[in-house]
Amino acid sequence: MKLQRTLILLKPDALDRGIIGEIITRFERVGAKIVGMKVLVSEKDTAMKHYTEDLAKRRGDVIRQRMIDMLTSGPILALALEGIEMVEVARKMVGATEPKVAASGTIRGDYTHVSYGYADDKKIGVFNLIHASASPEEAQTEINVWFKPEELVEHKPSYTKFTLKED
Ligand code: ADP
Repeated sequence: MKLQRTLILLKPDALDRGIIGEIITRFERVGAKIVGMKVLVSEKDTAMKHYTEDLAKRRGDVIRQRMIDMLTSGPILALALEGIEMVEVARKMVGATEPKVAASGTIRGDYTHVSYGYADDKKIGVFNLIHASASPEEAQTEINVWFKPEELVEHKPSYTKFTLKED
């Protein structure tokens, strides 16, 4: 089984609240390898490549537009993680989309609590701190949206000797 990469974004609300260290620590703690990381302010067209027409199809044009506005409203942190079936592991750790129902123990469940109802009332996308790719295909596309190939590293940290045996 090959190691798998996934794309994580810590959205502006996570940086605003100063909790990116705590969130990154959670990924380190499960043994995910950080192969790319940067802080940036997203251009609108990059945000549009991330929140594609697919989001509009699933959630509607209004939500897509609100999320593009949200994502470009302040600094974000892009993170590429590598590990065994890392797409699924990261999604498990991130939790459900709506913070109100995200299980305790997940990142969204532990650090946020707002609801769709509140977000709709305020005409904003729901602030849930973090994005994680939903599938291996989406992960590949999204890693390419946020990282140039030379910004991703290959390394074998010694702590992975027993957990990430690739051969
Ligand atoms: P996820 O980020 O959990 O994969 P989606 O890809 O469906 O969820 O949606 C992208 C983002 O859009 C969500 O993380 C959330 O911030 C926002 N969002 C989705 N649905 C709604 C909604 N009904 N109201 C407000 N914001 C929403």
